[in-house]
Amino acid sequence: MNKVEHIGIAVNNMEESEWLFSRLLNINAYKTENVASEGVSTSFFRIGGSKIELLEATTDDSPISKFIKKKGEGIHHIAFEVADIESEMKRLKKEGFVLLNENPKRGADNKLVCFIHPKSANGVLIELCQEIRVNNE
Ligand code: ZN
Repeated sequence: MNKVEHIGIAVNNMEESEWLFSRLLNINAYKTENVASEGVSTSFFRIGGSKIELLEATTDDSPISKFIKKKGEGIHHIAFEVADIESEMKRLKKEGFVLLNENPKRGADNKLVCFIHPKSANGVLIELCQEIRVNNE
């Protein structure tokens, strides 16, 4: 694994939280994106070499609305950047971690992602992410 790519924070109200984080970090969000398949809208702030990802539910059965109902707003996941997501998934599976998806799926911000169940990682939802490379050949 390379670095902490981003930290995901579940929020109730994107508009209010964008305002809050733009004042906290003294920068504006550089990108917002809707991930319909996950029922979330996201907003990204760049901070040093990593990012803060705000997550707001767009549907009632979104993982984010379930999370907020259970735990309230707050840190939802930590994402690590990997060079080769498939081999990292294989390695972690062999180490006994529970993967939430068997195949990498498309996430926000041009990434392939895989989540690791918090029960197998001290209560922390872990995201692996690999930049999607465009193959021009
Ligand atoms: Zn994320």
